[in-house]
Amino acid sequence: MASVKCSSCGQNYQMRDVKILNHYQDLWFLNALCSSCHSRYIIVAVIGQDQNAEIISDLNDAELVRFNKFPTLTADDVLNMHDFLRKFDGDFSGLFCYNRRRNL
Ligand SMILES: [Zn+2]
Repeated sequence: MASVKCSSCGQNYQMRDVKILNHYQDLWFLNALCSSCHSRYIIVAVIGQDQNAEIISDLNDAELVRFNKFPTLTADDVLNMHDFLRKFDGDFSGLFCYNRRRNL
């Protein structure tokens, strides 16, 4: 957890900033309070010890090959998505039109 940074101010979390809320098998739900800016986040992390764990996925074989080329999601990615969803107003039309204009 010490390598995970607050998505608001960039401060690294300390172990005392993180509380375990619950877990289901390797999926852990953590509450992190930034000691610098006092932002509070829920972190969902997969913490496992078995490096050869079975992959559980809804993806078909072609999708697994396609997405296997992308980098592994990090805790920062999950925090960024949490931050995005917290601010998202539900306007998918505006979101997709905005992203299409940006890519042109
Ligand atoms: Zn912070």
